[in-house]
Amino acid sequence: MSEALFRRIITSAHRAIIAHADELTALDQAIGDGDHGVNMKRGFDAIADVADEIAVLPFGKALQKAGMTLVMKVGGASGPLYGSLLMAMGKSRQDMPASLDEVIEVLGEGIDAVKARGKSDAGAKTMLDVLVPVHAALMAGGGDPIAIAREAAETALGETRDMLATKGRASFLGERSIGHLDPGARSTTLLINVLCDELETS
Ligand code: ADP
Ligand code: MG
Repeated sequence: MSEALFRRIITSAHRAIIAHADELTALDQAIGDGDHGVNMKRGFDAIADVADEIAVLPFGKALQKAGMTLVMKVGGASGPLYGSLLMAMGKSRQDMPASLDEVIEVLGEGIDAVKARGKSDAGAKTMLDVLVPVHAALMAGGGDPIAIAREAAETALGETRDMLATKGRASFLGERSIGHLDPGARSTTLLINVLCDELETS
């Protein structure tokens, strides 16, 4: 049953990364080394290449394989970080989450792994500045979780603009990192939107 959904998510995520690769690169040119679009494209090209193998796996194994693929194929910091996110989420559950509480729990495991891998937390102007607020908003509840996730991601992404980067390459710029969106926060928002689109139509 999950096979068709996994296929759709992989295809849509791959398409979104390709469509926004130049934008991600431009964001990374401003406060990093200008490879985030290329890194993400390389990672999602590789996931798309093994989509047939991933789609037939149970939830946990599928996420672990996708995460491992990113770790192996992406040279930049974002590969191991997104890889850790997916692998930890996959390790935490064998079967597809069946409730919002289970989704929140799985996402929390993934976020903890990103924090550990990146020796980081929210507030450092990274992908965690989207992941953590989205997780918190889902926990707070109060409406349609898909709408909550989309809105929280969009707001949180915008808030990275005025943050000072204290982790990753952007931190080398110090104060000059202020005034630009974080590239990883942007790619996380893109992927959250893909997930929301696909879950909405499933
Ligand atoms: P690199 O920084 O190696 O060039 P990318 O450009 O692909 O890798 O990815 C940069 C993104 O990775 C940043 O925009 C940020 O969101 C994220 N990132 C970098 N370092 C960390 C960290 N320590 N913790 C969490 N996210 C990080
Ligand atoms: Mg970079």
